[in-house]
Amino acid sequence: MAEAGLAVVVLERGQYPGAKNVSGGILYRHPTEEIIPGFEAEAPLERPIIEQRYLALTADAMLGGIYRTQDFGSPPFNSYSVLRSEFDRWYATKAEEAGAEVYPEFTVTDLIFEKGKVVGVSTGEPDGELLAHVVVLADGANSLLAKQAGLHTEWNPIDQALVAKELIALQAGTINDRFQLPDGLGAAYEIFGESTWNHLGYGFIYTNKESLSIGTGALLQDLIDSGHNVNDMLDRFKKHPAITPLIAGGETIEYSAHLIPEFGYNKLPKLFADGVLVVGDAAGLVNPINREGANLAMISGKLAGQTVISARERDDSSITTLVRYRELLEESIVLQDLYKVRNTTHFAHERPHLLVDYPDLVSKIAKTYLTVDGASKKAKMAEINRLVRSLPKRRLIDDAIGGFRSMFR
Ligand SMILES: Cc1cc2nc3c(=O)[nH]c(=O)nc-3n(C[C@H](O)[C@H](O)[C@H](O)COP(=O)(O)OP(=O)(O)OC[C@H]3O[C@@H](n4cnc5c(N)ncnc54)[C@H](O)[C@@H]3O)c2cc1C
Repeated sequence: MAEAGLAVVVLERGQYPGAKNVSGGILYRHPTEEIIPGFEAEAPLERPIIEQRYLALTADAMLGGIYRTQDFGSPPFNSYSVLRSEFDRWYATKAEEAGAEVYPEFTVTDLIFEKGKVVGVSTGEPDGELLAHVVVLADGANSLLAKQAGLHTEWNPIDQALVAKELIALQAGTINDRFQLPDGLGAAYEIFGESTWNHLGYGFIYTNKESLSIGTGALLQDLIDSGHNVNDMLDRFKKHPAITPLIAGGETIEYSAHLIPEFGYNKLPKLFADGVLVVGDAAGLVNPINREGANLAMISGKLAGQTVISARERDDSSITTLVRYRELLEESIVLQDLYKVRNTTHFAHERPHLLVDYPDLVSKIAKTYLTVDGASKKAKMAEINRLVRSLPKRRLIDDAIGGFRSMFR
């Protein structure tokens, strides 16, 4: 918008951009490159990610899959770990270089309406009113401003996840050894099952240059129902015998907890009204299955910017012009991807046994097969057969069909 000659003001309530942003920290190159070409040469990035692990924890075991490729280890990289406090600060300077004015330590308390149309924002202070042709709401999960704009009513605890995260300092060489990484390259572990007390959610460990980002969380409703809290969940996760050796000797240098909107395509709020657009987490644009939020926030911001530019060209910031924002989102991966996974969270939430029974079964099968105890392989296969048959057959089929439908329909 600033590059197109519009007067742009960014109000941020934190001490500086990035001060209040919480993320595991995986940033994808492609959408970032589209917004800031050549960003890799100057942005504060941690490690290019060359390995992705999907793991499940049972009480005493860990199992899962690994994908590591040299393709992710050389340019063009696929993704990086980043520290948002550093990355966002740098990112805001790029907005300033383009001509936007960025003001930290300003909290927007209210929207200003005129005849039902949003015409500006207020910080609640004397002289704290700022009028605008269009206001873009980017105030993150649980957006109070989107509610004021009438874009949504109340978020339900079933539609939000709460995640606790720590940054643990460790020497680069120790990280390389423990995660079997070439110097400077990184890994991302997504960890299910016991990591979340078997609630729907996940734990994660991402490698930075000289620290690990570790976190875990679950749907707020499940936390309320079970009485578990995410601080205890994270402590418990760190004490799991498969996790402790990865973080041993590290020092926690940062702790945060944050919501992630999880309502998905089926419950999306309204994305625009007269004089106002909503982007990123404030609009619920998070793909929980693929752990993508920052990239969807950036893309939605870009599409909102394009919409505002054409609204200014037409001198019309009513819904007649701003509807284009929804169309652009539908044409982009943002809403196409959210549509694709629209039923997946509901499918998994309806089946709490998924994160318990199947990891447990695979663990028992592996243990049976791998233990050399005098029993013949024939006897072991018979035992494995018995273990598989111990699961209700109807449920097995239902899970397989339901899982397939929720992912591929
Ligand atoms: C633990 C955790 C791990 C995650 N891991 C990943 C990951 O690895 N990769 C990924 O892509 N996504 C991840 N996400 C999701 C990702 O962090 C979000 O989708 C992304 O930050 C959304 O960006 P946003 O700008 O919409 O919102 P936010 O980053 O939340 O930014 C909102 C901003 O608005 C400011 N603000 C709020 N209210 C006001 C107000 N009234 N006035 C002024 N300023 C205000 C806040 O201070 C903040 O700076 C993770 C989220 C969490 C919680």
